[in-house]
Amino acid sequence: MNYQERISRLAEILTVSRSVYVLTGAGISTESGIPDFRSPQTGLWTKIDPMKKATVSFLKRDPDEFWRMNLSRYRQIAENARPNIGHKVLARLEEAAFIRGIITQNIDGLHHKAGSKKVWELHGHVRSVRCLLCRHEEDFSFAAQEVENKNCAPRCPKCGGILRPNVVLFEDPMDDSFSQVMRLLPKADLLVVAGTSLQVYPVASLPEMVDNLVIINMEPTHMDSRAQLVIHEKTGRVLEDLLIELKEKGKLS
Ligand code: NAD
Repeated sequence: MNYQERISRLAEILTVSRSVYVLTGAGISTESGIPDFRSPQTGLWTKIDPMKKATVSFLKRDPDEFWRMNLSRYRQIAENARPNIGHKVLARLEEAAFIRGIITQNIDGLHHKAGSKKVWELHGHVRSVRCLLCRHEEDFSFAAQEVENKNCAPRCPKCGGILRPNVVLFEDPMDDSFSQVMRLLPKADLLVVAGTSLQVYPVASLPEMVDNLVIINMEPTHMDSRAQLVIHEKTGRVLEDLLIELKEKGKLS
């Protein structure tokens, strides 16, 4: 099957499926300028080891250093990044009832910014921070300003405890949204997996819960052999071409 035939097949599969969810990873946001973890050459793991920098034990052992090391990456994601065509097409597909929602590993909030309504952020987000002691929440910008002004970890304005990002760090338990997704996926007809290496567990096991899979990723994943359709291309290109195909077929205005 050539590329265009795969796009036509994807449009057909979407049109006949009733209960469709999309699982996204860092790959969908690389076209917004946010590096992923595992892309060859550009992935963050070619430069740093997030398993050392983004752990709960590091945060608790040395909160000042945790914030100094992570602030610029969080800031880039929280303040500068804009949704790309891939995020926008997914929002349009939800609006047109082709998909029921997006399950994302990303912390960048770009699906919300693109207008998606139903989004399960399995690894949290960088919109806010919370106190390690009393769980009081503040906007992320409050914490960023504190770190910048004082060059140390931000403190809770209520109780003085350390503020932490509302993201799921290594060693954290999974967010409540993960159990919600575990309940809904067995009833899904189709899961479209987009821009993830499927190497971070337990999220990487979610595709096993759905009979029909489509995978859109630049590189092969361990689930490719289970998928009814695999497209090794950029998510932005594929999703834009899918939208065009649906319009040409008269399925979308
Ligand atoms: P990953 O880095 O392990 O894998 C990304 C995959 O996307 C790779 O296989 C790569 O080939 C592919 N890819 C890159 N650009 C692509 C594009 N334009 N189109 C299609 N495919 C593309 O990322 P992951 O599987 O999401 O797991 C990494 C973890 O890192 C997640 O838990 C996530 O929370 C976190 N993370 C998030 C962000 C973000 O919020 N944007 C960024 C980096 C890491």
